[in-house]
Amino acid sequence: MTNLGGSRLTRHKLLLDVQNLCTHFRTEEGILRAVDRVSFQVHRGETLGIVGESGCGKSVTAKSIMQIVPKPKGSIVGGKILYHREDEIIDIATLHYQSQQMRELRGNEISMIFQEPMTSLNPVYTIGDQIMEAIQLHQKLDKKAAREKTIEVLGKVGIPSPQDRVDRYPHEFSGGMRQRAMIAMALSCNPRLLIADEPTTALDVTVEAQIINLMQDLQTEMGMSIIMITHDLGVIAGIADRVLVMYAGWVVETGTTEEIFYHPQHPYTRALLQSIPKIGSNARLESIRGSVPDLNNLAQGWCYFAPRCSAAMDICVEKEPPIFSREDGHTVKCWLCQEEEASA
Ligand code: SF4
Repeated sequence: MTNLGGSRLTRHKLLLDVQNLCTHFRTEEGILRAVDRVSFQVHRGETLGIVGESGCGKSVTAKSIMQIVPKPKGSIVGGKILYHREDEIIDIATLHYQSQQMRELRGNEISMIFQEPMTSLNPVYTIGDQIMEAIQLHQKLDKKAAREKTIEVLGKVGIPSPQDRVDRYPHEFSGGMRQRAMIAMALSCNPRLLIADEPTTALDVTVEAQIINLMQDLQTEMGMSIIMITHDLGVIAGIADRVLVMYAGWVVETGTTEEIFYHPQHPYTRALLQSIPKIGSNARLESIRGSVPDLNNLAQGWCYFAPRCSAAMDICVEKEPPIFSREDGHTVKCWLCQEEEASA
């Protein structure tokens, strides 16, 4: 088993408190509940991993926090996203995505990096111009100071000869270098919260390890919090303090990384863990049968994982499972927990 990131967990002040978040999309087929009553917290300096298959609501959760859910089809229709500053609490869910306050939050305090840097970097501007623009916009520095800061931050993310590379275009960078440049752009304004949406998926494993190490080093140096979104549990094991498992727009399990890896309770979490390779094991990898349900007009009032669950009971297709919470903060949305409580 990989070394788990949970060992670094210490309780710090609350930074983000997401309560019952609901983000829906209006589609031709009806209402798509991409994020359905999702709740979680992020403390200062900690890394929260969000895992699940594609289509489980991970990225929409992140985009909701950034207020960049594609309009007009998508919108936050319920819940709170409470962002804690020293002297005030801001409910991001109530802010207009183009408001001055939201723009300031997006640039200065919360940053996001995406899976494919080529879709976020503009091919006709140099890397330096793009980072400088963000710095000038949010830090009110003049051009000379912004260029110096850009070279400094490119050096910080491990780009060799940053004083030369600052004038290169995205196509002149390798995939790993482009992702480093994206991290540089995200970190250039010293955010308190970095949201990384599958930041290493497009990279080969050695570059992936470098990027993960880089993010951990920068986190230690800058004291920021990270939300790491991935379908790769191996990445989560190495970096996260706590883990949130999402399925079909729901949070189905949360706990410390140690709890989730060594004592998973939800059948979906267990199935995800059985599908990752283990060093030294010749055991055949298990795939999860079936696929994530189509969230369009999905009838409510049952467990969405039931068609894929080998432990499903009658109640699972009759009533939505509630969330069972333990004192240590481990939560599970599954009827099996009630059975276990009853037999204890
Ligand atoms: Fe499986 Fe039932 Fe638990 Fe859903 S509630 S995960 S169907 S046991």
